[in-house]
Amino acid sequence: MAATLEAAEVIAASSEQEAVSAFGDGEGVTVIAGGTIAVPEMTHGRLRPGKALLLANAGLAGVRSEGGRTTIGAMTPVAELEGQPTPLGDAARHVADVEIRRQATLGGNLCAPPGAESPRGDLQSALIALGAEVRSTGQGGERTEPVEDFLASGASGRLVLDVSFAEPEAGAHESVRRPHAHAYTVMSVCAARTGGEVRVGVSGAGPRAARLRAVEQAFADGGDVEAAAARATEDVTPQNDALASAWYRGKTLPVLVRRALTQLSH
Ligand SMILES: Cc1cc2nc3c(=O)[nH]c(=O)nc-3n(C[C@H](O)[C@H](O)[C@H](O)COP(=O)(O)OP(=O)(O)OC[C@H]3O[C@@H](n4cnc5c(N)ncnc54)[C@H](O)[C@@H]3O)c2cc1C
Repeated sequence: MAATLEAAEVIAASSEQEAVSAFGDGEGVTVIAGGTIAVPEMTHGRLRPGKALLLANAGLAGVRSEGGRTTIGAMTPVAELEGQPTPLGDAARHVADVEIRRQATLGGNLCAPPGAESPRGDLQSALIALGAEVRSTGQGGERTEPVEDFLASGASGRLVLDVSFAEPEAGAHESVRRPHAHAYTVMSVCAARTGGEVRVGVSGAGPRAARLRAVEQAFADGGDVEAAAARATEDVTPQNDALASAWYRGKTLPVLVRRALTQLSH
């Protein structure tokens, strides 16, 4: 991405080890991945890093499948995920446009700070549905945790290294968006069945994606799609922003959940 990088100190890591050691406990470090969020923030003077850690050459990109498990490096471009099975491939194909998808990364999507005007983090709900685990480093060293725990803790102060998940038996993706290039997704629901268990996540309803546990429970109890969809707003408080009102999101979310679960049942 062509832009002037103004920071007191700039570190361009050339390996995972170098990135981990430069990140340390994360204090005062701003990570720059694809830069589609971070660089415009710097250009407009809203972000002034003391220490900028560039990951472009840190060797954190790539998709690996082994023993039924897929591992995706944090620096893997969103465009490279478009071929992944539903729901991750679908979620990736719906991010912005081709230029952004080639530059934007999985790690940046996972750690995207909530947007003031529109939601971010379309891949987050897909990763929740897939039961993905996030490997990160920071204070206390390396740890691996469920993606919903990572997101609930604020997705900050950690350097994401990769995510991994078991290949799903089935998946579904439903979203509302504006048919316009460069547009953000208003809201998306992802569901997946892995090892017989159904998990459901939503991106764009709140500041970060959330796991819809009440929906999952209701669906597991009786397999009744309508009853499960009726519980869609129990785990999330729909938000207002420039793209849609909280009211609209509250009305639309059960519809997306119903469609996703119906897809999964076929
Ligand atoms: C026009 C436009 C349209 C967009 N449309 C969408 C959309 O439809 N859906 C959507 O989800 N997003 C959208 N975005 C937002 C953004 O492009 C994506 O969320 C993207 O995946 C961010 O990735 P990045 O690598 O560019 O992140 P960066 O800008 O490099 O970083 C984003 C944030 O994550 C942190 N970060 C990045 N990588 C790591 C890591 N490995 N470990 C820890 N922290 C990290 C950075 O410090 C920063 O705070 C859009 C952006 C633009 C400009």
